[in-house]
Amino acid sequence: MVDAATPLAALSPSAAAARLDLIEARIVAACAAAGRARAEVSLVAVSKEQPDDAVRAFHALGVRDFGENKVQALLARAERLADLADVRWHLIGALQTNKAKDLARAPLAMLHTVDRPELVTALGKRLDATRPLPCLIQVNIDREPQKAGVLPEALDPLVELVLATQCLALAGLMAIPRPLDESGVAELAASFEAMRVLGERVADRIGRACVLSMGMSDDFELAIAHGSTCVRVGSSLFGPRTYTLNSV
Ligand SMILES: *Cc1c(COP(=O)(O)O)cnc(C)c1O
Repeated sequence: MVDAATPLAALSPSAAAARLDLIEARIVAACAAAGRARAEVSLVAVSKEQPDDAVRAFHALGVRDFGENKVQALLARAERLADLADVRWHLIGALQTNKAKDLARAPLAMLHTVDRPELVTALGKRLDATRPLPCLIQVNIDREPQKAGVLPEALDPLVELVLATQCLALAGLMAIPRPLDESGVAELAASFEAMRVLGERVADRIGRACVLSMGMSDDFELAIAHGSTCVRVGSSLFGPRTYTLNSV
């Protein structure tokens, strides 16, 4: 039995494998229930505030996509784990404009949190236009005042701005709706569905399928039912984020 409340450092490699198997089984079941192919959904293992050894454990099990929520933490982690050359790092946390310079140094596969014109402008000055950075626009789908993300009605102009920025390659949308314990299943489903509709609009505009980064440990099945193509799973894989050793 794998106790989901046990931090990974206290678990054996086989227990890490069991946790990954459990998440994989949940993804497979959610895809099957939605009539979707498993290959349509990628898993980002959210390693923020977790020990390096846990990242190594999941890497050894074949996980390649890892998410950090701070640029400095991502840079430091990528440096410590430089021997894992094939990791794809995702930045999933809010980005301040004054961090654009640091971001330019980061070995990033995907930036999930483009959410305002000022940030696009700052990135435009710092990033390399010869290697456009794949990015997602974060949408504040539940219109929460304290939360990052562009409001749905301001999405189209931001899409155009990102498309006009050489160093950014728009791949899709990301959202962090209100969690289940604050909203309820019907509300959360409506939020994911609203994202799916916005994603279709972006797909039409960019002329190809749109990445939809949505769904976390407690709600990714519902997100997959509403079109998620990228689930970001932290605590269900790694255990609670009790480690501060490696966080910046
Ligand atoms: C922390 C975090 C996650 C992972 O959350 P869990 O509930 O631990 O799976 C996913 N997405 C974002 C943006 C996060 O900050």
